[in-house]
Amino acid sequence: RPRVLSGMQPSGDSLHLGNYLGALVNWVQTQDEYDAFFFIPDMHAITVPQDAAGLRDRTRKTAAQFIAGGIDLDKSTLFVQSQVPEHAQLAWVLNCITGFGEASRMTQFKDKSSKGGADASSVGLFTYPVLMAADILLYQPQGVPVGDDQRQHVELARDLATRFNHRFGETFVVPQAIIKKEGARIYDLQNPTSKMSKSASSPNGLINVLDDAKTVAKRIKSAVTDADTVIAHDRANKPGVSNLLEILSTVTGTAIPALVNEFDGKMYGHLKVAVADAVVEALAPVRARTLELLEDPAELDAILAAGALKAREVASKTLADVYDRVGFMAPV
Ligand code: ATP
Ligand code: MG
Repeated sequence: RPRVLSGMQPSGDSLHLGNYLGALVNWVQTQDEYDAFFFIPDMHAITVPQDAAGLRDRTRKTAAQFIAGGIDLDKSTLFVQSQVPEHAQLAWVLNCITGFGEASRMTQFKDKSSKGGADASSVGLFTYPVLMAADILLYQPQGVPVGDDQRQHVELARDLATRFNHRFGETFVVPQAIIKKEGARIYDLQNPTSKMSKSASSPNGLINVLDDAKTVAKRIKSAVTDADTVIAHDRANKPGVSNLLEILSTVTGTAIPALVNEFDGKMYGHLKVAVADAVVEALAPVRARTLELLEDPAELDAILAAGALKAREVASKTLADVYDRVGFMAPV
């Protein structure tokens, strides 16, 4: 099976519906076809300030939601980045073959560091893409499924792999970015021209995987629509209604034209009830299973430790090869 690798930052207390439908559901689908590695990049998370207890808690919660959402530990490898020290070790070597100008051209750093002075951003944030290259290259994957915003970082990983191979001999697989066109894009319920986002959405704009049924229904009921009364799919003129139709379509697997037909002559309230029911039905088992897993943190930690050991079997081979090629002494 070809190998793929994906990660999601532990940046919120709960995944939101966009993370779930736009990422996790796709991950679950790749498991049969691919030898998949899924990880929680907590080392990337500390490139901006984090509360220690909060980070650990969110890392566990994120892992629990991955498992509850269908990551199958018999098929895939699930691990936390900081528990696989090879990531930091390879990142250092890659830092030393990355040009300063090359790193300076990464647009995510420019975006994230634009506010505040030079010392408001850490050097860690600056070398974030190099750590991400290490995350990828350690596992020798053929493909890296990412959103469009990560295209430049995968390009850097490819450049570094090619450069290392050229200088030190064939070591890394040069991976392809797999940019998903399809994947559902879910918009903010209160601001349906912006995507639903952990950091940018207000609580009322979000549907969280860990919200109870009542909260989900309340949020959807108060979703922004428009002054019109026709249920139609028109992203430009009816973003709120279109978002609700897209959510319903993704969750139920019914095509949008069929939904538009079904709701012909009905009111927005009817659509909202249908969306709320469908979302609750989809999320309820994920929420229940997550809460169950979180009741036994020791068991969850054991699952993650086993995942880290499995990841290290692959990562340590790559790192040993790299250390040898750059001229480090044999391991002691
Ligand atoms: P942040 O606001 O901190 O960037 P986020 O809500 O955008 O958080 P990420 O952690 O950046 O979430 O993304 C995790 C995964 O979820 C990525 O694969 C991303 O493409 C996907 N994703 C995030 N938001 C949405 C959305 N609204 N619709 C579909 N997919 C999404
Ligand atoms: Mg994001």
